[in-house]
Amino acid sequence: MTTTNELPEKNDFIRAIIRDDLQSGKHESVLTRFPPEPNGYLHIGHVKSICLNFGVAGEFGGACNLRFDDTNPTAEKQDYVDSIKEDVKWLGFDWAGDVRYASSYFDQLHAWAVQLIKQGDAYVDLQSIDEIRANRGSFTEVGKPSPQRDESIEVNLARFDDMKNGKYPDGGAVLRAKIDMAHPNMNMRDPVIYRVMHAHHHQTGDDWCIYPMYDFAHPLSDALEGITHSLCTLEFEDHRPFYDWVIEKVGFDNPPHQYEFSRLNIDHTLTSKRKLKRLVDMGVVSGWDDPRMPTVAGMRRRGYTPEGLRDFCERVGITKSDGVVDHRMLEFSVRKSLEDTTARGMAVLRPLKVTITNFDEAVAKFDELKNPKTVADFDGEVLWLTQPKHPSLEMGERRIPFTKTIYIDQTDFEVVPPAGYKRLSPENPEIRLRNSYVLKVNEHKLDDAGQVVELIATIDENTLGNNPEGRKVKGVIHWVSASHGVDAVMRLYEHLLLEDDEISDASLHEKEIIDADTDADTLWIKQHLNPNSLTICQAVVEPDLAKAAAGERFQFERESYFIADAIEHNADLPVFNQIVGLKDSFKPE
Ligand code: ATP
Ligand code: MG
Repeated sequence: MTTTNELPEKNDFIRAIIRDDLQSGKHESVLTRFPPEPNGYLHIGHVKSICLNFGVAGEFGGACNLRFDDTNPTAEKQDYVDSIKEDVKWLGFDWAGDVRYASSYFDQLHAWAVQLIKQGDAYVDLQSIDEIRANRGSFTEVGKPSPQRDESIEVNLARFDDMKNGKYPDGGAVLRAKIDMAHPNMNMRDPVIYRVMHAHHHQTGDDWCIYPMYDFAHPLSDALEGITHSLCTLEFEDHRPFYDWVIEKVGFDNPPHQYEFSRLNIDHTLTSKRKLKRLVDMGVVSGWDDPRMPTVAGMRRRGYTPEGLRDFCERVGITKSDGVVDHRMLEFSVRKSLEDTTARGMAVLRPLKVTITNFDEAVAKFDELKNPKTVADFDGEVLWLTQPKHPSLEMGERRIPFTKTIYIDQTDFEVVPPAGYKRLSPENPEIRLRNSYVLKVNEHKLDDAGQVVELIATIDENTLGNNPEGRKVKGVIHWVSASHGVDAVMRLYEHLLLEDDEISDASLHEKEIIDADTDADTLWIKQHLNPNSLTICQAVVEPDLAKAAAGERFQFERESYFIADAIEHNADLPVFNQIVGLKDSFKPE
């Protein structure tokens, strides 16, 4: 590999700020946080945020908290909490101390809301949600003050108490910060900070019927934990004035500061929990951990490695400019992490039977060959070939049965080969079988439809570990014993979703998908689904591969990297998921 394989130096603007803050003594140490809302499974976008938050903490000798921003109980679940913890650990990171929950600060947050009311900085608004929205104004129009905006502190305290005590229905009252209804930043036009929601919470049960808004809970949770650098994505830039306002009004000596970086977007990939949940709910995937999902759980099941994901995030880097990353960059990083960590194996995905007519005579003579490179023993039926699991790394050995009938891949023989075809054909009947002899096809059998169904071949008995004499044989193909190979399911993947320019106008206008109850997300998903995202092959693998542990990864020679499926794989019916192809179609800059 060339120097392009080197990782760029981590010199992004966030690390520069932190370095300065530590050097100038503004902060003695760095404390960051990763603050997911437990309303879905983490996806590749979150991985970028995790790598940044935990990464800088590690690099600068600081720490990173894992805090669930659980202020919206109706969308949240314990299952999501559990999966997020598992995912962060799997990615190779560890949080400081216990997991934190914004909900464990509810008492404190409530007390601060009362403080704001007492300072004249917050009031209870009795307008409906629609009225509040309508009266906020627009970019060109100032907002209209609520009729309750100038109520006395006493009245507001009493009403806020009533909110807390369940005297208002959902939507019956909200607490708003009192800032400026004409502020050019809409987020500063008296934002809502508490709402009534009679809902059970996965952490606090039925203790509360009012819940703080994210924009109120988040900065105060940061301040409470002593976060130094609060790193979030660019869409929160406009929320920063309110972030600072809340912290200043409550009063903190060492306020945290929020810094924004660009979100990760990847072509062909959804990075929104809400939309990913829709895929699950629509049943177009088998679950959050479907190997086609860009969730951490899906990528884990697909066989992506934590090393690959971290490498990818480093390559993407941290900037303030939005863009769309080429998905092949992610595949590049995953592939790189597999090159020196996976054992080799042979799997035939589209089996074509080959009968070796001279097998018995040829193989019987094998031990007369003086080639120390090939270790083999013949038991009268099977020639057991001993080969290393990896050509250069110490991974032990495997025994590959070579028998009278074998399978090769259908694509390795063509009756009428296309130009430049280098594998078997009637004109080019000889090829090397990987780890074995040179094979010569003497005849091919066709079925009624003209498909090749069997090859009749011979092997050159002098070629086990030796070059053939008097001629050059180009090409090597993989194979599996027909009698000793094990049937296996191989799942090959393409993108779940197509890009706009890959879908036809017809699908955009298809009537049956635009039925009455199809909302925008569902419609978009239906239009963009790739019909070829999953292909299942009935394959045959060397017997050793059937013994693979669930979650074990391999390079199937000349095919792809594969992983034994964590859930469905077993020795009787091995199930492998394609991780990534063998060849790069992407070169990092
Ligand atoms: P989603 O829309 O998928 O739910 P979110 O931003 O609402 O994403 P949170 O659980 O609130 O999800 O996010 C936790 C952290 O992850 C936040 O700091 C957020 O900025 C960050 N994050 C989310 N999506 C991305 C992304 N695509 N790229 C980088 N960071 C992201
Ligand atoms: Mg969110």
